[in-house]
Amino acid sequence: MSARTTIEHGTLRGWRQHKRHGSIACDPCAAARRLSKQDPPAESTQRARQQWNRGMVGDSRPATSAPVIETCTVDGCGITADQPAPSPAMVRIHVPGSTDPARWYCPGRCAAIGRALADLRSVAA
Ligand SMILES: [Zn+2]
Ligand SMILES: [Zn+2]
Repeated sequence: MSARTTIEHGTLRGWRQHKRHGSIACDPCAAARRLSKQDPPAESTQRARQQWNRGMVGDSRPATSAPVIETCTVDGCGITADQPAPSPAMVRIHVPGSTDPARWYCPGRCAAIGRALADLRSVAA
């Protein structure tokens, strides 16, 4: 019997109406309220943006730890050598003084790349 109040969802006013009714603001209202704030916390904004990008097929590149070098498809190539060799053919690469631990690589190209990477890390350290 009280006059029904319609909530203007998706607006700041709607958000306030939710509050007045003691209900939790729905998503559109919460979003409107967030937008109305001048300075949203930078961190959460960034996180939201990241999630957004991940959910979208965009032009943002996959920000994994992908190195410049194309990934080797051999199983276990590049794993640290505190584990047993993934294959008997693999070679153990460790550059003394490098911050990079010893790793297993397939012989040849991967081993060369691995050594170069470890070298780089020793220089950078
Ligand atoms: Zn609402
Ligand atoms: Zn490899």
